[in-house]
Amino acid sequence: MNSAWIKLRAHHGMCLAFFRGKGYSSGFVAHMAQVQQALEKNPLVRVVCETDLICKACPNNHDRVCCDQEKVSFYDAQVLKACGLTAGEILPYRTFQALVYDNILIPGKREHICGSCQWTELCHLTQQKPQHEERSFHDDKREDTRAV
Ligand code: SF4
Repeated sequence: MNSAWIKLRAHHGMCLAFFRGKGYSSGFVAHMAQVQQALEKNPLVRVVCETDLICKACPNNHDRVCCDQEKVSFYDAQVLKACGLTAGEILPYRTFQALVYDNILIPGKREHICGSCQWTELCHLTQQKPQHEERSFHDDKREDTRAV
């Protein structure tokens, strides 16, 4: 994580919003938590449609190609479109997250994009929790309550 920006695939902007310590393997979960922590410092991110820093520790990443490439590429394309971004754009992480929240999550469009994902039920349940139980993206001062 030493480059000028962190490579982040577009649909991971949604995954990060709902990550609660569950994932494809214990190594993946630990790595994702690390990435999430690094992103809280609001680095620049390069939003892409290919394997990224999160994919790096994923057991589904085979030679830098996701084994569910067709599905995740669709998610990426939909997130870019909804946020008005193009692949390769570099912007502060919080700006990207605000675009994801404002254009997808708050208007309730998440399931239209990634409803076929194996984790969708978990994200759905997280979304249903009363807001005061959740960390608000717009409230940087609140304690992190995401560990499950
Ligand atoms: S499932 Fe695919 S897109 Fe998701 S983290 Fe793993 S390699 Fe990346």
